[in-house]
Amino acid sequence: MRDPLVMIPGPTPVDEAVRDAMRVQTYGHTYGRFVKIYKECLAGLKKIFNADAVIAIGGAGTLSMEMGLVNVAKAGDEILHISQGYFGDRYPQISAAFGMKPDVVSSEPGHRVCLKEVEAKLKSKRYAAMTLTHVDTSSGTLADLEGVSELAKKYDTLFILDGVCASAAIDEDMKKYGIDVIVTTCQKAFAVPPGMTLVAFSEKALKRRESLGSIAAYYCDIKNWLPIMDNPSLYFATPPVNHIVALNESVKMILEEGLEARYARHRRIGNAFRAGIKAIGLKPITAEEAYAPTLTVIQYPEGIEDAAFRARLEENGVFCAGGVGSLKGKVFRVGHMGSIGWPELAQTMTAIELTLAELGYKFTLGTGVGAMEAAWKAK
Ligand SMILES: *Cc1c(COP(=O)(O)O)cnc(C)c1O
Repeated sequence: MRDPLVMIPGPTPVDEAVRDAMRVQTYGHTYGRFVKIYKECLAGLKKIFNADAVIAIGGAGTLSMEMGLVNVAKAGDEILHISQGYFGDRYPQISAAFGMKPDVVSSEPGHRVCLKEVEAKLKSKRYAAMTLTHVDTSSGTLADLEGVSELAKKYDTLFILDGVCASAAIDEDMKKYGIDVIVTTCQKAFAVPPGMTLVAFSEKALKRRESLGSIAAYYCDIKNWLPIMDNPSLYFATPPVNHIVALNESVKMILEEGLEARYARHRRIGNAFRAGIKAIGLKPITAEEAYAPTLTVIQYPEGIEDAAFRARLEENGVFCAGGVGSLKGKVFRVGHMGSIGWPELAQTMTAIELTLAELGYKFTLGTGVGAMEAAWKAK
């Protein structure tokens, strides 16, 4: 049996070139050829984020969230978390676990937070750092990065961006947006199998780390890793060798495609997919101003049940995700980032149409694919 096409918001489909890179012989981690690949990979990541320093080590996105925070704040510090969903809500759990004092500004699912509320908080006390999720994967909400970054500048708060569901698909130029820390991973828009923690730092964030002295971390302490990132022939802890070779392949492909072209491709994909979804009478739960180029979160129409829909969709060749948190059972989520292009979109939309028709939803077959084609062609 053929496995279904993976259209969840990560892990995402992995190109053959990246899979081939993954299966190279496992080089010694201080072997010259590997050291060169690691350096090339880090230099490419630095370019993508326009960062002053980048750390790429074994782990998941959640580890990067932890690493990004514990190197710029310590127990007792006030932290402001902007939450637009499930992953925004994860950050205060991390700051609380380290004895920091989290404050949260949140929004209704699918909506952006009110910037006035954020500003009122920033006025009320001095925060050591502020966190924002670039795209909240639970509600498909794209944050107002510019609006929030202006506030971070105005109130001189260290700005941490959770880029997990956006990095390499949406612009995250640290200098342009005044971002101090980006926490991210490789299995979403980087289209690499899961297993890496990626964190980018600004000069200001590195200085903050210096001023903290000793911190409540060891593996996560960037002071242990920065010398290795400068010279990967040194040892601190064994890096995931094959993963780094694969990530380097992906980074090279991203830079070859060109960052602007890649961001434009993701916008085109998101717009075309939503045109199709709307044409068959379905609705994203996300407010239009916050539509994300990387995924779409769709409300079930009357009479379509979550588990039955997703099981049937899988039989029709496409694997999508259900809702999380308060949206569980109410929505399905389709990731469209990384290596996704027209063929995957077409396959996904036909499978969604067939599945809905099989489950008795009333609409004219083919209208979704038609509208998506028209939107794709119009660009
Ligand atoms: C997936 C995701 C995470 C968590 O990443 P893991 O690799 O699963 O730990 C964090 N934040 C956002 C926005 C995500 O989409």
